[in-house]
Amino acid sequence: MNNAANIVTDDAYEFLSVERPVAAPLYQTSLFTYPSVDALRQGIKDESLTHLYSRGNNPTVEQVEDRIAALEGGEQAKLFSAGVSAIASSILSCVKQNDHIVCSNDSYVWAQYISSTYLSRFGVSVTFVDATDLEAVEKAIQKNTKVLYLESPGSMQLRVQNLPRLAALAKAYKLTSIVDNTWATPLYQNPLAMGIDLVVHSASKYLGGHSDVIGGVVVGSKALVGRIFKTEFLPIGHVPDPFQAWLIQRGMRTLHVRLPFHYASALKVCDYLYDSNKIAKVNYPMHPKSPWYSLASEQMTGGSGLLSLEVKSKDVQKIEEAVDRLKMFRIGVSWGGYESLVFPTLVSSPNNPSLIRLHIGLEDPKSLISDLDQAFSVL
Ligand SMILES: *Cc1c(COP(=O)(O)O)cnc(C)c1O
Repeated sequence: MNNAANIVTDDAYEFLSVERPVAAPLYQTSLFTYPSVDALRQGIKDESLTHLYSRGNNPTVEQVEDRIAALEGGEQAKLFSAGVSAIASSILSCVKQNDHIVCSNDSYVWAQYISSTYLSRFGVSVTFVDATDLEAVEKAIQKNTKVLYLESPGSMQLRVQNLPRLAALAKAYKLTSIVDNTWATPLYQNPLAMGIDLVVHSASKYLGGHSDVIGGVVVGSKALVGRIFKTEFLPIGHVPDPFQAWLIQRGMRTLHVRLPFHYASALKVCDYLYDSNKIAKVNYPMHPKSPWYSLASEQMTGGSGLLSLEVKSKDVQKIEEAVDRLKMFRIGVSWGGYESLVFPTLVSSPNNPSLIRLHIGLEDPKSLISDLDQAFSVL
């Protein structure tokens, strides 16, 4: 396991400023100048190696990239303007017309959109599979398959995919394997060490950690990330603003302090939910009662604050009333910041109104449990 505390707090960047500031300098600049024509000539040869223009590289952005690469145990990372741009660029960099992708049917909804609706415009096809089923994944692979796109634990149901075996399968068929590791963060899961080729994150969640910034990142080998830099990042311009990157690096300094708190509180909330007679199902793979616990604890060393549950009631109005009664859980999308949040799936998928997603924030877990208890009492 990596030593996160050192990686996020070591002042490895003091060379950036002669004044040796304790907070990271913010290079809010669009371009960099050269001392001579010859220096510019050398710089322009390979934009990935120089500070030419902030659509390519910027020192504040690189600081985040180097830290995430270190945490994930990857050779190189590239920060993007959003998680979805990191996902889209990773997939796009691997495919051309008439290629095929295998994509987990549990993946983030916009990753599914990119793999199907978006890429179908360019003649790339997709098969969605239950990636917890290795046989189903192998069956879905075709001669023209180039990418195996995964997310573990998966969105909403938080089911766990066997990453080492899926990585081996991808290698056997010469596919690029990509895993969305947003839920576990680089602190608790490192898919590259399991043989996965590329890891993507939404930095808008725990890396930023304060619900005040959007960002994304891709981590992997120099060859793969370098290719994404040249073929998608630079020409399309999925650039993170330096201040966006600055906020992410600031958030990351407390990642190893925040995550254990989210994890401990989520376990306490799960204990309450497992005991409640209003609840039919709890989805949190790092709880010992979860059917995914054994595989989950082989692949992850901890859990985050995101879980979902199914209430026993199927009464949409009652469920809506219960969610409206919550005081500490604010109603909204996204997660990963200080605050507890609730997302009832009845707003988007009426076929399963009982499924509710909770983000367990950094408030006192006892107060969060009392709040859930008073709200669910109407069910
Ligand atoms: C939020 C999220 C994304 C998308 O990230 P953005 O930063 O919102 O573009 C991708 N994957 C997962 C698992 C997410 O939760």
